[in-house]
Amino acid sequence: METLISGKNLKAYYVLDLWGSKKVVKAVDNVSLDILPNEIYGIAGESGCGKSTLLKALLALLDPPLRLMDGELLYNIEGRPTNVTLLKSETIRKLRWSFISYIPQGSMHVLNPVKRVRDTFIEILSSHVKKQTKEFLDLAVQHLKDLGLPERVLNMFPHQLSGGMRQRVTIALATVLKPRVIFADEPTTALDVVAQRAVMQLIRKIQNDLKNTVVLVTHDMGVHAQITTRMAIMYAGKIVEEGPTLEIFKNPLHPYTRYLIQSLPAIGDKKLRSGIPGSPPSLVAPPPGCRFHPRCPHASQRCREEEPLLKEIKPGHKVACFLMEG
Ligand code: SF4
Ligand code: MG
Repeated sequence: METLISGKNLKAYYVLDLWGSKKVVKAVDNVSLDILPNEIYGIAGESGCGKSTLLKALLALLDPPLRLMDGELLYNIEGRPTNVTLLKSETIRKLRWSFISYIPQGSMHVLNPVKRVRDTFIEILSSHVKKQTKEFLDLAVQHLKDLGLPERVLNMFPHQLSGGMRQRVTIALATVLKPRVIFADEPTTALDVVAQRAVMQLIRKIQNDLKNTVVLVTHDMGVHAQITTRMAIMYAGKIVEEGPTLEIFKNPLHPYTRYLIQSLPAIGDKKLRSGIPGSPPSLVAPPPGCRFHPRCPHASQRCREEEPLLKEIKPGHKVACFLMEG
C-alpha cells in the first residue's frame, strides 16, 4: 500500500544550554514508522515518553530547543514522495492546514482568545485560498453544518465556549481545508466523559467522510481501543510495539504493552487497577540495553546490555523484545 507519511530513523532531541552546560533530552530516539492513507493511527504510552515530540517531528514542527538530529521524513504529496526536511519553512507552512493539520494539546493555541471564531476561520481560509470574505463565511457555515456543530459558534469568542465545544470547534478549523492528515495531541484529555465522547465521534465522522488519516496521540488506552485502527506504543523515546489496534489488545506482545492494557479499568469497574511498577526513565540518560529493563519482570542479562530492535513477528505486528525472538 502507498504510504502517506514515512519517518525513517527519526531522532528529535531537545538541546538545552543550561548556563553553559549542555543537556540533551532524547525524546524521540531512532523511530521509524509509516502512516497510511485512510487510517486512525494511535500513539500510546505514559506521559513523558516522547509521544508529543514524535508528533512534532512528523509535522516538521521543530522549534528550538527541539532539533531533528537525524533521520528522514517523507510526505507523499499528490503521489510524489517529498523529503520534508529539505523543504523551506515557507513551503512547509503552506502545507499546514491543507495537506497536514495539527490540533495541539490545549485548543487555545489554535483559537485566538481575542478573536471571534469566524475571524479565525477567515484567517485560515484566506491564507490558502483566494475568495471573498462572504464566500469564506459560507464555507465555514457549511463545514460546521456538515460536522453537526451549531452555526452560532462563529460569533462567539473562545472563552464563551465550553471545553468540549471549544475542542470540537478547533477540530472543525483544522479540517476546513480537508487535509490528508490530521495530527491531534491528547484531544480528549481534560474533558468530561460526555465531551470526550462527542470529540471522538467527531473525529470518527471526519475520518469517515474525508477518508483521510488521523494521527492521534493519547496516553488513554481506552481511547485507542475505541477509535484507532492501528497503533504504536512508545516507551522512553522509542516505539516498542506497533500493530492493528484489535490485534494489540487481543495479543499484546511487549511486557510494557501488557501493563498498559492491564491498567485499563473495565467498564463499570470502580476499583483501582494495578499500576505499572516503577517510573519512566530519564530521557537524558536512558538505561542501556532495553530501556524497559529496570521495570520488566522478564529482564535478563542480555536485556541490560543489548538493545532489542523493532521486528515484525506477524504480518503488520512489530515488537522490540528479546522474549519474542523465540
Ligand atoms: Fe523485558 Fe527484555 Fe523484553 Fe525488554 S527485551 S521488554 S527487558 S524481556
Ligand atoms: Mg504530550
